[in-house]
Amino acid sequence: MIAKLAAFVLFAALPFVAAAKDLTVYFIDVEGGQATLFVTPAGESLLIDTGWPGFNGRDADRIVATAKAAGLKQIDYLLVSHYHIDHAGGVAQLAERFPVRTFVDHGESVEHDDAAKKLYADYLAARAKGKHLEVKAGDKLPLKGLNWTVVSAAGNVLTKAMAGAAKTNPFCAGFQAKAVDESENARSIGSYIVFGKFRAVDLGDLTWNKEHELMCPEPKLPPVSVYIVTHHGSDQSSAKPMVHGLQPRVAIMDNGAKKGGSPEAWNTIHDSQGLEDIWQVHFSVEGGQKANTGEKMIANMTEAGDAAHSLKLVAHEDGSFDVTNARNGFTKHYAAK
Ligand SMILES: [Zn+2]
Ligand SMILES: [Zn+2]
Repeated sequence: MIAKLAAFVLFAALPFVAAAKDLTVYFIDVEGGQATLFVTPAGESLLIDTGWPGFNGRDADRIVATAKAAGLKQIDYLLVSHYHIDHAGGVAQLAERFPVRTFVDHGESVEHDDAAKKLYADYLAARAKGKHLEVKAGDKLPLKGLNWTVVSAAGNVLTKAMAGAAKTNPFCAGFQAKAVDESENARSIGSYIVFGKFRAVDLGDLTWNKEHELMCPEPKLPPVSVYIVTHHGSDQSSAKPMVHGLQPRVAIMDNGAKKGGSPEAWNTIHDSQGLEDIWQVHFSVEGGQKANTGEKMIANMTEAGDAAHSLKLVAHEDGSFDVTNARNGFTKHYAAK
């Protein structure tokens, strides 16, 4: 009888055990900011950024709802990519609503106008209630079952190539630098995430010249399965040596209706060899009919009052992965290569 019961319990638990072996990533709609929640195969959680402040805690509420639906009781690591209001703005509101254990950042802000000072002070007050981990390029985050490398932080990028990176990058030729970016964007924490044969990159709002430093003359980053589109698809990021050098199969863009989603970045991504699909959190007004992906791969089609649908990525250890649009339930499977 007991053996029978044990067998039943084991059987009943199987689907959950299987699901827990995946890496799941939620691209939460924070209207053109960033809030990307990773749930690891070991059940740990890492949230990259918290969206905007204000709106009665709108973005924090969306993050908490997603985290709870994912079965989380806390955010183990909150990685604040840089101190801009669409990334770090919602930290205090999130920490009021949901336990955040360890705050990961690149150190002090370099922006000092009144709004930036308030943003940073509010962040420090929230951070004081948890643990703090300051990271630099080359560091690894202590997540189980994943290899999470910090590839940029505080304006520095990896100096040595990661294992598996190509020796040369043909897309460095013809690169045109932009004016030096003195803002927090250029100081974004960039992450390279390896789970089995699956690889993804998230560079926060890292800008043009720093992307070039990471990928030229020889690339520091190996090719990826998924490119989490830098800077919401702004034309200040997604330089060709980065995007084409990464050879992504799929790009996922956390743009807003009128933030990011620039035709220039979209076209660079679209034209990258081997690119299979672009998924977007929003239809881009600027992109119009020519620089938006198909409707079924866009989570939110309208400009105002949308239902804040998310995109979900489930990555498997063999390198295969699935992306789902929460608005219409459309899922596409990408077989291992
Ligand atoms: Zn941003
Ligand atoms: Zn920014």
